Amino acid sequence: MSLNSFLVALTIVALAQGASLGQDERVRYDNYSVYKVRFETQEQRNLLRKLAEGRENFRIWYEANDELHLMITPGALSDFNSEIHRTNISAKMFISNVQELIDSEEDANLRASRDGSFGWKKYNTLDEIYAWLDEILANYPAVTESFALGQSYEGRTIRGIKISYKSNNPGVFIESNIHANEWITSATATWLINEFLTSTDELVRNLAESHDWYIVPVLNVDGFVYAHEKNRMWRKTRQPSNISSCIGVDPNRNYDSRWMENEGASSDPCSEFYGGPHPFSEPEIQAMADFVGSIKDKINVLLAFHSYSQLLLSPYGHTNEEFPPNYDDLMAVAKAYGDAVERLPYGTVYRYGSVAEILYFATGATNDWAYEQGVEIAYTIEFRDTGRYGFILPPVQIIPNAEEALIGITALLDKCEELGYLKPKNTQ
Ligand SMILES: [Zn+2]
Repeated sequence: MSLNSFLVALTIVALAQGASLGQDERVRYDNYSVYKVRFETQEQRNLLRKLAEGRENFRIWYEANDELHLMITPGALSDFNSEIHRTNISAKMFISNVQELIDSEEDANLRASRDGSFGWKKYNTLDEIYAWLDEILANYPAVTESFALGQSYEGRTIRGIKISYKSNNPGVFIESNIHANEWITSATATWLINEFLTSTDELVRNLAESHDWYIVPVLNVDGFVYAHEKNRMWRKTRQPSNISSCIGVDPNRNYDSRWMENEGASSDPCSEFYGGPHPFSEPEIQAMADFVGSIKDKINVLLAFHSYSQLLLSPYGHTNEEFPPNYDDLMAVAKAYGDAVERLPYGTVYRYGSVAEILYFATGATNDWAYEQGVEIAYTIEFRDTGRYGFILPPVQIIPNAEEALIGITALLDKCEELGYLKPKNTQ
């Protein structure tokens, strides 16, 4: 082996682990860039997908039917540029150095931690979230109840909180942080819990008290801890594979709902969209399904929090030729959410449609599974932003994003009420 090919091999090994490891053993993303690439033809799309298969150098951050956001290693940038020039694809740089964003996020987290351990000026760790949950449960014992979905692969408890001010309320389930790197989701979920319990605003009080809330701030607990401690960009679970050295499954492709149909997930354990060896292979997803299954008669609406791209995504994920029976209603409630958010001074715009219409085929996801369980309003909500910061949304945007979620959910539930979706489901 020549020195050159040795160095190349060494680089590939380092990159296959995600990126180079620094002294504190955190994965670093120095000079990794993120590009938005627009494509017009299927041929261009296929070409980009093929490029993105070179996982040592490329990582898909977002994919829709007309554009792709790609994170690129510094070493692959010139190849990437010549490839897009050759094929006449337009590309725009969003992020010049991913590590810089991670560093400033960490600085903000450290600064905010000096004023106290928990809050919404920073992204909290799982320990901080759980300690805060305990405080909340102790402070509001009459209207809150702790529940556990079960244990993660690494043995952590997946916790949730039920908030109920009176009996016979319609039920709203919020799943959050199933994808480990989408930190804005648990930040928003915890902010909502706090508002529901402490706000004196009449509209918020009415929203909080006229629904039963089941909120799981962090579903993918192992991945979330790993993202905080080792690799900010970690998305999947942490269960090892029997057939590969790559770790983890995309939990939002692991539900037993059209699992792996129509290439709605990858069968490659190294892919970010790996559906797992079989449906419900991930204990976190099995636990979620068992729990939601056991109370499905009480759940009228399920919202799965994700980031990023400012979208509301309804079933189905497996086909864009067939639509759910209440598709028109689903679109009406999504429109209500989007309109309400846009009316806020931030002017943030949300788009909506079915997963397969707007993005691509994706199967085994929470919203499709819940819909099959009889939860007729089941949505994936992709929060801020549209790519400027992507997954590394600065903490200063946590509260604005959460305010949008609050006003959006209020409008969505008002529309559900109007359309008759909040009636008791248990007709016994
Ligand atoms: Zn996600």
